[in-house]
Amino acid sequence: MHINHIGIPSDHPRAKSLYIREKLVNGLRRGLVVPEGLIAHGRGEAYDYLIGEHTTKTAQRAIKAAAAILLLSNRPVISVNGNTAALCANAVVELAKVTGAGIEVNIFYRTEEREMAIKAELEVHGAKKVFGVGSKASARIPELQSERRRVDPDGIYTADTVLVPLEDGDRTEALVKMNKTVITIDLNPLSRTSRAANITIVDNVVRAMPALVEAAYKLRGTTMSLKKITDNFDNRKNLQQSLKTMKGEL
Ligand code: ATP
Ligand code: MG
Repeated sequence: MHINHIGIPSDHPRAKSLYIREKLVNGLRRGLVVPEGLIAHGRGEAYDYLIGEHTTKTAQRAIKAAAAILLLSNRPVISVNGNTAALCANAVVELAKVTGAGIEVNIFYRTEEREMAIKAELEVHGAKKVFGVGSKASARIPELQSERRRVDPDGIYTADTVLVPLEDGDRTEALVKMNKTVITIDLNPLSRTSRAANITIVDNVVRAMPALVEAAYKLRGTTMSLKKITDNFDNRKNLQQSLKTMKGEL
């Protein structure tokens, strides 16, 4: 039996899930993740159970539409918080490369130390430029209070499309009101974020982000009309499908 470096036996029935938890706890120790982030992950895990802990066909459709929108956009930006950085910094950087998107640190519990830690993590994985750190986050999202409003004038503030994995509902709604196309990755199809976004990928970010990279590579090389793919996507219907899958599991 193989036991990895953090002591999780590979044949443990919950090995994958335990490994993801370890990544987050490790992220907490390294100053990327906040304790509240662990709780948010727990909520996500419960929904992951209900979709069978795999990328569903429904999620795959949303992933395809999201990749198409990112490729069609003039100024796409990927928003990165602590959990996302701890779980899939690598895929974020790759997705930025294949779609030409910017990367911005955007956190709910903002401290300069944590912003710097997240930026450094992204740079270790090859990010060349990271928006939204320190005084760079000088623009304000209207309608939001305090530190949560801050965004980079060269990043999210002027983006046409924003990918916000694991985002809070208030901020998602505010970005939609700013007329941005909002894509989210959120395991809870009932969250305000899921319902407010233009495209919601109901899947675990650890699976969805690499799947987005793959979809973007594929679509970049096809003659398929990207516009057609996005026009045919109906987020409300897609969310209903995810709920149906979950109800089936129950
Ligand atoms: P909202 O603010 O949108 O109503 P919320 O307050 O329930 O949602 P938040 O903590 O604001 O939740 O946002 C975190 C969201 O991310 C939750 O909906 C949670 O289910 C989801 N989530 C947590 N971890 C993951 C993960 N690894 N992959 C995908 N989604 C996740
Ligand atoms: Mg919330």
